[in-house]
Amino acid sequence: MLLNPETISFLRQAYREFYFRQADSIEFPGDIQAREFGYMPFGGGMVRHLSFKSRGEAVAEILKQSPSSVYCSNARYESPSAPIEEKGWLGAELIFDIDATDIPTPCKRGHDLWYCEQSGHSGKLPGPQKCPKCGGPTAEFHGTCDVCLSAAKDHAQRVVRFLTEDFGVQAEAIGLYFSGNRGYHIHVTDGRFLPLTQAGRAEVSDYMLGASLPPNQTIASTLRRRPSGGGPFGEGWIMKISGYVEGRREGYQGTLQKLVSDAVSSQRAMVDSSVTTDIHRVFRLAGTLHGNTGMRKMRIASIDAFDSQRDPVVLSAKPVALNVRFYPRFRLNGSEFGPFRSQMAELPTFAAVSILTRGLGDVA
Ligand SMILES: [Zn+2]
Ligand SMILES: [Zn+2]
Repeated sequence: MLLNPETISFLRQAYREFYFRQADSIEFPGDIQAREFGYMPFGGGMVRHLSFKSRGEAVAEILKQSPSSVYCSNARYESPSAPIEEKGWLGAELIFDIDATDIPTPCKRGHDLWYCEQSGHSGKLPGPQKCPKCGGPTAEFHGTCDVCLSAAKDHAQRVVRFLTEDFGVQAEAIGLYFSGNRGYHIHVTDGRFLPLTQAGRAEVSDYMLGASLPPNQTIASTLRRRPSGGGPFGEGWIMKISGYVEGRREGYQGTLQKLVSDAVSSQRAMVDSSVTTDIHRVFRLAGTLHGNTGMRKMRIASIDAFDSQRDPVVLSAKPVALNVRFYPRFRLNGSEFGPFRSQMAELPTFAAVSILTRGLGDVA
């Protein structure tokens, strides 16, 4: 999606205004000088392998560029600005990524759409290759709703539970962040995990996904050997499964195997393994804005009270006029917007950003 120069300049200005007001809320990890930084300009390609000596130097660059996205490595390096093979890897925090898009929820059929890039006509997926109205090219739009957003919240809480209950991580060593879009990042600063290899990280994410468990049948036969009413037993997954089954076994009509399968699917965390196992990755810096939404990646103190469609909305409400090609109805900061199809619209800046960054509208 190409952004026109007026749109790029509007977006940079909106982001810059935020960074001028809120530079203090950018949260840098420990050892800034050992981290690799990167950024993505609006309408441009990724810039990586940057390093900064101090917080002040990094903030000055963020203000100057006012980019679409700012990234920082979870790894520490001897030479963070060198090419990957020469950086000298010194360990990395363990990070988990939970995204509403990856969690199978029945609501997706309702908000995942095809639309025509020319006329703005739309419909449910799977869509036609060409628009039936005008013959123009079609594309897909993946939306969100309360159901998938609260599923993401639930899975983020499951990750925290695994970390504290099964891996003995202290609460102070767990940073829970909203990603700025439709998910959560969980950062673990516990020193035991810093030297973990890719294979070691894969073991941890497989464990949370329930991917390394024995077959349901085997677990069911272990449970069958224990009389019901004996309470949960074992540790780790066996404890979680036996605890779930215990309360439901009495009078249950289905098989024990089915109960075991439900116990796993209601407690596993749908983490993205490719994120956790990549030890040279850069992540969105906490306190900076997401490039597609204008919402802030932010640390969450109390996840129960957190509202992902209100709390991270930090851009101004200054109205801006747009030509919108297509955008479905959405809710943000307590208001409803759209739907829009090939029309002019005046929106608060914080709501206009998602339309503009996706190339679905231009500043008029
Ligand atoms: Zn069309
Ligand atoms: Zn949904």
